[in-house]
Amino acid sequence: MLYTELVEIYEKLSGTNSKLEKRDILSDFFITIPEDILPFVTGLLSGYVFPKWTEKELGIGPKLLIKVISKITAISEAKIEEYILSTGDFGEGIEKAVDQKRQQTFFNIQIDVAYLKDIFEKVSGFQGKGSQDKKISYLSELFSAATSIEARYLSRTILEQMRTGAAEGIIIDAISKFSGIPKQDVEKAYLLTNDLGLVALYSKKGDQDLYKLDVIVGRPLKPMLAQIAGSIELVLNDIEEPEMEVKYDGARIQVHKNGNTIKLFSRRLENITQALPEVLSDLKSSLIPNNIICEGEVVAYKDGKIAPFQYVLRRLRRKYQISELSEKIPLRLFLFDCLLVDDRSLIDLTLKERRNILTSSVKESEIVKIAENIVSKDPLVVKDFYNKAVKDGHEGIMIKDNLSQYQPGARGKKWLKIKKTMETLDLVVIGAEWGEGRRKEWLSSLLLGIRDDEGKFLPIGKVATGLSDDLFTEITEQLTPLIMEEKGKIVTLVPKIVVEVLYDEIQYSPKYESGFALRFPRVLRVRDDKDAYDADTISRAYELYESQQKTF
Ligand code: AMP
Repeated sequence: MLYTELVEIYEKLSGTNSKLEKRDILSDFFITIPEDILPFVTGLLSGYVFPKWTEKELGIGPKLLIKVISKITAISEAKIEEYILSTGDFGEGIEKAVDQKRQQTFFNIQIDVAYLKDIFEKVSGFQGKGSQDKKISYLSELFSAATSIEARYLSRTILEQMRTGAAEGIIIDAISKFSGIPKQDVEKAYLLTNDLGLVALYSKKGDQDLYKLDVIVGRPLKPMLAQIAGSIELVLNDIEEPEMEVKYDGARIQVHKNGNTIKLFSRRLENITQALPEVLSDLKSSLIPNNIICEGEVVAYKDGKIAPFQYVLRRLRRKYQISELSEKIPLRLFLFDCLLVDDRSLIDLTLKERRNILTSSVKESEIVKIAENIVSKDPLVVKDFYNKAVKDGHEGIMIKDNLSQYQPGARGKKWLKIKKTMETLDLVVIGAEWGEGRRKEWLSSLLLGIRDDEGKFLPIGKVATGLSDDLFTEITEQLTPLIMEEKGKIVTLVPKIVVEVLYDEIQYSPKYESGFALRFPRVLRVRDDKDAYDADTISRAYELYESQQKTF
């Protein structure tokens, strides 16, 4: 397959905003891609050269690429930078430079995708002294054969800035369409393998092959996530057999041991093995099975006490002089789950079974520990456990369904978190909408406002759920006398009533004047004890936003 065919697809994808059209373009294209290059091409379509979890990377930044282009076009690096600035896009700037050159020379070599794959493999293999020159030499060969539009897409690929809008979801839809395999099965295979290329290949071979894909040591799977719990009592009623664990405030780590090799992956599935040498060395003697995948939270200590998670992040970001920092910031790893042992996937077992296997697979050490837990349905016992966790400096507790399976990538109701700082905001109701049907008599959808520095209330979100019938009635009674203006069903209110709002996440959003929006807001209660000027401010929203920027 020629690279120009791929470029044609990139152009088609860029030419439409419709997700359905993008899916159809990709699905038709998938049918034509030969199996031997299918995984590679799938990666290129999704905007990466090597899957993130592999250690391979091209290691080519914009500067090096400009050098290559300058070498083959004889246009100065400064001029190329000018092209990039004037077009406002790296790929288009490179395209312009190659185009200038193309007017003077004649090339008839065409880039084959298999050749491209080979070059990328070679380039990723060059490391250390002299590697830069070798990379330049291979890339020069590649770009000399490229047409200007190919140069645009090659440079975007190399810098992983594709901008064709072929997001993961669309690629999954396209794989499902061309193979006729139900979307949820394609999705599941992706969650297990984290490799769209592999999923595309096995889908092409047939559904029986796809179903064989499973968890493999060395290839991280998307971590299971937790939702915020309303209250301990509610959760204990809902879950048949609740298991409580300390919620450690650090960074999530997935450990993969295969014989003598141990790799550590972050929550975002990046390989962070190098950053944690002392943890690695303890794991070597702590993990008993030959092959194992387990998960835990790595926590930092400072002066014998638990340190805020930022300390762990410092450790994870540090590439050099790690040992110096590891003395200043010692770490512990608290393991809480086990996903594979001796090549047998455990994700369909219950948490209770997985925990038992974890306990018998780990010999605790100075650094490697098993997360503290209890199994109980007694609210007093659970509250004690929570209070102790918080007193010990932890973030709170997790309440997990002991009979649930491991669901990679899912943020469901099987794992719930109760944090000491509950993510609630006290917001002012500044508008509302009369309901429909059964809710006709109620002001059912509430527009929430947050205070700015000048004391104005700016919209931050709408909430229609989380209210019981009683709460709706109560709020309607309180809000009705405050109506300033009514347009159809929509009312504007005097900002007076404060409600406590729980949410899953706070996001930047241009949609509301405050600049923030809340994900899944729910009203917990009316804060009769507060008036509008005691409500939370934009700076608090900003603080909360910052504190949730835990990227690992
Ligand atoms: P959050 O980041 O608030 O969504 O909470 C989920 C995160 O808590 C997980 O991704 C882990 O990094 C962390 N965590 C700490 N302790 C535990 C635990 N015992 N079980 C699961 N996750 C935990």
